[in-house]
Formats: sequence, C-alpha cells, structure tokens
Amino acid sequence: MLFSFSKLIKNANEIWVFFLDLIFPKECLGCGREGTWLCQKCFSNIKLRSEHSCLACKQKTSFAQFCPSCVLNYDLDGVLIAGYYEQKIISKLIKSFKYYFIRELYQDLGKILILFLNDFLNKKGQKFNFQECLIMPVPLSAYRRRWRGFNQAEILARLVADHFNLELSVNELIRNKHTKPQVKLNKMQRENNIKGCFSWCANNLEGRQIILVDDVVTTGATLNECAKILKHHGASKVWGLVVANG
Ligand SMILES: [Zn+2]
Ligand SMILES: [Zn+2]
Repeated sequence: MLFSFSKLIKNANEIWVFFLDLIFPKECLGCGREGTWLCQKCFSNIKLRSEHSCLACKQKTSFAQFCPSCVLNYDLDGVLIAGYYEQKIISKLIKSFKYYFIRELYQDLGKILILFLNDFLNKKGQKFNFQECLIMPVPLSAYRRRWRGFNQAEILARLVADHFNLELSVNELIRNKHTKPQVKLNKMQRENNIKGCFSWCANNLEGRQIILVDDVVTTGATLNECAKILKHHGASKVWGLVVANG
C-alpha cells in the first residue's frame, strides 16, 4: 500500500492536486454550483470568436492571418484565437488549469478549441488544407515540465489531433533553454528572452502546414520563435491555435 501510494504521488504537483481535492470542494468556476469545475450552463455561455483579426495591429482579417504590413515582421502566418480572455470564465479556466493544476479542466479547454475549429472550418475551411496539417504543442523546457508535471499545451494539442484525426508531433520541437516567464516582459523583452530557445530535431518538414497549440497568446513572440525554426526546416505555413489572447 505504502509503495503504491508513494508511486502514485511522485511529484509536488500530484501532492498539490491530492490536497486540493481534499481541501477544496469541487465547484463551478462560473457560478459556484457544487460537484463540477464547470457546469453545462456556464460552459454554454462561453463566447467563441466568429470574427478574426491580425494579432499585431488588431485590424480585421478574414481568417486570422497577419495583415499585409504586419506579416513582414513575423515568420508565423497568423493566430487562431478561440475565445476572449476578457470573459472571466475563460481566464479563470486557463489559470486554474495552468497554475492550480486542475487537470480535469483540460477537457473543457479542449472542447472550446474543438468547437471553435469546427465553426472556423465550416466557414473558412477552404483556406486551409486542414487534413494535411501537423499539430504541435508549444513545448516547455524540461525543467518547467518537471516542475508542472505536464505541458498544458500538449494536452490540448492531443485533444485537437485526436478529434480531427490529424498527425501529432510532441517530441520533435524542443525548448532548449529555460527562460524567465514572459508574463512581466514587454514585447521587445519577450522577443529577446525567447530567441534561440527552440530547435527541431526531426526530418525536414518539406512544405508542411503546421498548427502550433498553446493555451494563451500575448504578443505572439513564443509562437513566432517556434515558427522561425519550423520554417527554417521547411514548413510552408505555421499557424497558432490558442484558447484566448491574454
Ligand atoms: Zn456554473
Ligand atoms: Zn496588422
């Protein structure tokens, strides 16, 4: 018993989750209803985006690509953003998933991405050779991954790939360096902080279209640094797909 118990709780996060379950009653992050982290009613109130814009200057673009002038500053082609960080339930879900390690929330966050993508593809699908896309999570450094116990982006990328039956790559794009969290940095500092952090350790990507999954996008510096490496290795298009803009 003792042996299996210690095996079960093998890192700090799992201990945290264990105590979280003991101490906090599970209640809806939206309305406080007991028994679930997100009730059906609050889930159905989540607003999904049906209009898209250039991540950099915010002007409307038809399928979330950068506008013709901003695109010159990016390797990334655009970022598909499913919801609105300003909607309180969305920011709560993301923070609770990422910082409080409430893993069960991954299903709700994944569902948000899937519902959004379904709608997006119905309307704009012809612009994407979607079934040919390769899905990839933004990687964490080995240090951060050990510390958190999971990569939130990888969990979401798996759900999307499974649902749409797309090819998934989780170990080939690598984050070599552990950097300062980007949260308190401005745009320029973010770009410098993340520079040279990623490498690609598999075959040439030969014209592949890639969708990089993450939970949130801010300036796009991290997604863009990944895109730079992926295009250097042959990718033709690199899109971001995130739950919200933070
Ligand atoms: Zn609720
Ligand atoms: Zn723009």
